[in-house]
Amino acid sequence: MDSNKQMAELLFGNITETPDDYERIYPKRNIEEGAVVTRFAPSPTGFLHFGGLFAAFIEKTAAKSTNGVFYLRIEDTDKKREVENGVSLIVKGLNDFGIDIDEGMMSETEEKGSYGPYMQSRRTEIYQSYVKMLVEKGLAYPCFMTEEELASVRENQESKKILPGIYGEFAKYRDITVEEAEKRIKNGDEYVVRLKSPGSADKRIKFKDVIKGEIEMPENILDVVLLKKDGTPTYHFAHTVDDHLMRTTHVIRGDEWISSVPIHLQLFYVCGFKAPKYAHISPIMKEEYGGKRKLSKRKDPEAAVSYYREAGYPKGAIWEYLMTLANSNYEDWRLANPNEDINSFKFAFSKMSKAGALFDIVKLADVSKNYISTLSAEEVYDMVTDWARDNNDKLYKLLVDDEEYAKAIFAIERGNAKPRKDIASWSDVENYVSYFYSELWDKELDFPENLSKEDMIEILETYRDIYDPNAGADEWFPSVRDMAVSLGYAKAPKEYKKNPDSFKGHVGDVAGVIRVAATGRRNTPDLYEIMQVLGSDEVMKRFDEAIENLRG
Ligand code: GLU
Repeated sequence: MDSNKQMAELLFGNITETPDDYERIYPKRNIEEGAVVTRFAPSPTGFLHFGGLFAAFIEKTAAKSTNGVFYLRIEDTDKKREVENGVSLIVKGLNDFGIDIDEGMMSETEEKGSYGPYMQSRRTEIYQSYVKMLVEKGLAYPCFMTEEELASVRENQESKKILPGIYGEFAKYRDITVEEAEKRIKNGDEYVVRLKSPGSADKRIKFKDVIKGEIEMPENILDVVLLKKDGTPTYHFAHTVDDHLMRTTHVIRGDEWISSVPIHLQLFYVCGFKAPKYAHISPIMKEEYGGKRKLSKRKDPEAAVSYYREAGYPKGAIWEYLMTLANSNYEDWRLANPNEDINSFKFAFSKMSKAGALFDIVKLADVSKNYISTLSAEEVYDMVTDWARDNNDKLYKLLVDDEEYAKAIFAIERGNAKPRKDIASWSDVENYVSYFYSELWDKELDFPENLSKEDMIEILETYRDIYDPNAGADEWFPSVRDMAVSLGYAKAPKEYKKNPDSFKGHVGDVAGVIRVAATGRRNTPDLYEIMQVLGSDEVMKRFDEAIENLRG
């Protein structure tokens, strides 16, 4: 047996499965030519950052638009970052925003798909099998350097201002013999397994990032750790083996990983794998004090996705917004195709921002208002009720107590060519509907200042007498106009402007007084529809109360 083989047996005598076995267990996927396989690969911290959601959205979209596969892999090689139910929280976080996985972890214990296990802590033997192969080929070795030795190397390199890490003269155990390794292991010395890097300092590598384009960097020369002291892999090595065996075509991830690409490409190379395509996403930015900075978990409440759930942004609106951030041409497409399904839009990596998409909460609200305006009253009812169940007891009760009434409210100025855009998120709804419910309405009447109390009383008393709840939508305004003229108001604002001294005001002022009496507000959706929903008894009661209120 050659010495490399002996070394491999010494370190991994218990590993019987070979890389060839794994190649058979996880064959090339049976998918269409050009179909993209992507993954979301978080640590099980439970926390889903907006940037993570954005990445998952891109990964899902890229896979879906090519009939590919999107899977969830849990990277739990760093046990310090783990929290209880961390996996379930991430799965729920994704589901809440409609990002369903085709394969992968579903909870802490369940998974689906035939390329698993999808949790790295359950794949230790697979990684070890590949490291064993590398040792056999003389491309990896056990390194017994102690913490003190590593620290002194680091200090030495810092003082000389040279590349930190284990390579060249600093790689003390690169050529360790089987005999010495055996002696040390018997002695109970701890070790890691390192790559014997084939890189050289004077060479550079080039690769084409799917988002950022051509990138050139120095080749990796570090003998990076593949397996830690406890036999579990480092992120670098686990990524290589997993993305190969899970047949990932596109590694889409945050651009903090760009500097690791030379290591990763080298690992793919020494393992004999075809490297995947890399797409590095720039961080989501936010404008502040005229400059830009990264959206921050610490400073920005909107960095946590729970923020959107609690505020009640529907997932369809979040999708719209994520696509707006993802592809610069999406907004124009949406404008030209207001009623098309978002899935008909052709997502392209080439249209992604290299500098980092700019997060803007006002824009999100606009996008969401647009989206909500396209929903039917039933859809709005269902979504608001769903949200209110967990977030607004009072509203929830009102909505379920009288479903028909609530749906009639949501139907106002909806389903027509130009629907209103008053609601940005479900937390706006309580205020939006408040005057329809005595439990919510504060009865503050915001009467205009330009008419006297007497004039307003006169308007309301007259209108109370002529109000006909059975009149049709096109009859009510003419009747208000006729009444306005009979009380000395101009029949149109234009007429009033020409001769302000000849009138008490114009028809708009008159309608305004009726509006405030019925709803408390100066601005509302269509007043006729509102009064129809309130019902004539309630409308009459409100006119009476408003007259009393004006009389003081
Ligand atoms: N586990 C890594 C992270 O959470 C994943 C990076 C990747 O997608 O490859 O940052």
